[in-house]
Amino acid sequence: TLAKPRQPELKTALPGPKTASIMERDSQHLSTSYMRPYPFVPDHGEGVWLTDVDGNTMLDFFAGIAVSTTGHAHPHVVQAVQEQITKFTHVCLTDYPQEITTSLAERLVKHVEKPGEKWRVFFSNSGAEAVEAAVKLARNHTGRQHIISTMGSFHGRTYGAITLTGSKTKYKRGFGPLLPAVSHVPYPNPFRPPLGSTAETCGQAVLDHIEGLFVGILPADEVAAIIVEPMQGEGGYIVPPADFLPGLRALCDKYGIMLIFDEVQAGMGRTGKMFSFQHFDVQPDIITSAKGIASGMPLGALLAKESVMTWPVGSHGSTYGGNPVAAAAAHSTLDLLEGKVQHPGCGANLMDNAAQVGEFIMTELKKMQAEFPFLGDVRGAGLFIGLEFVKPDGSPDGALRDRASMAMFERGLLNLDCGEAVIRISPPLILTREEAATGLEIMRETLRTLQ
Ligand code: PMP
Repeated sequence: TLAKPRQPELKTALPGPKTASIMERDSQHLSTSYMRPYPFVPDHGEGVWLTDVDGNTMLDFFAGIAVSTTGHAHPHVVQAVQEQITKFTHVCLTDYPQEITTSLAERLVKHVEKPGEKWRVFFSNSGAEAVEAAVKLARNHTGRQHIISTMGSFHGRTYGAITLTGSKTKYKRGFGPLLPAVSHVPYPNPFRPPLGSTAETCGQAVLDHIEGLFVGILPADEVAAIIVEPMQGEGGYIVPPADFLPGLRALCDKYGIMLIFDEVQAGMGRTGKMFSFQHFDVQPDIITSAKGIASGMPLGALLAKESVMTWPVGSHGSTYGGNPVAAAAAHSTLDLLEGKVQHPGCGANLMDNAAQVGEFIMTELKKMQAEFPFLGDVRGAGLFIGLEFVKPDGSPDGALRDRASMAMFERGLLNLDCGEAVIRISPPLILTREEAATGLEIMRETLRTLQ
């Protein structure tokens, strides 16, 4: 039996007066490129709860796009950040070592190193910068230029990263010319299998497609890297079939191509393992990480096998990358993920909690899928879950998804769309079963109104 869960508390009709006023000023003075899915202006947070400037408290099911791993204002993270900021805020890792980043790198590589294999870390401020670094490293190491990415992918907004990004055209329209020597191949989405394949055969179909390119279209010995999200994030929270990533590894080995896993969204414990590729029997050459790594402090990381990280001294760097305050937040985040520090009510560590609470959410969502025909697919791992809305003919129903998203918000559930018609469930990893049940009840109520 579940304890009586805390409920969202809506004090004013949405949007409240302060929210409306800030939304108006925001629309006057900030970049015209920002999106505003619904009227929400945060004031403060505690755990999985966010309170807006009008005093409405809402349940956070998106965690600042899968970033706030440890929830909002986690005391252990706050303390670590406060302690570091009173010591020094910045010196510059590119020029001088700092113990806090050295020990962070040592800690991170422990999660990927296999016996007889050593890894190294380059720190950036964001996911896009980690991706840029990965492309630079792969080109520099192989002496080759071409990069293969996937359709539906998202890798960031800088020039290299948007070129690799394979989702919405609005990310690219009017910004070209982009990076040369980049191709896109389909992503094996078992719910919408590409290339005339099925849910079971789509992984092999994409592998065959790539190898087909190497015959007559793209010389394999000019390909530096294949970059792929082991579980696709912005594209719709998609889990590929089990044979896909090991198959990619074999292909890369055959042709001397670097395999880059972009773990920016799915990594850092979200799927129930430290990195999402660890659900499969596969090892990449390069990993990019960011988002959940530092509970919202800006930090990105490029992890690479020592045998691959061969770029010369001074060839790459960053003024702020590996900032010690962000590194302190990352250490304290890892403490909670690894279970060195336990979060009350979340078992041994946050990765296990993500796996268990995620399984509970998935089971409940599957029941809803049986009840509501417009829920075409429920998929994911841990607290990385996608809910796809479909029309009666099975095609994606983005308009219905948008209505659902707004209606959930109006009931106090913060959520975020992705893909064409998907709502992503990416809450803080400290979410308890009771809190999950509260969010699920809001979802169920909302879905009933859409019938
Ligand atoms: N890669 C992936 C898989 C992402 O999901 C994102 C952000 N959504 C990025 C890269 C870019 O990260 P950032 O916004 O920190 O540059």
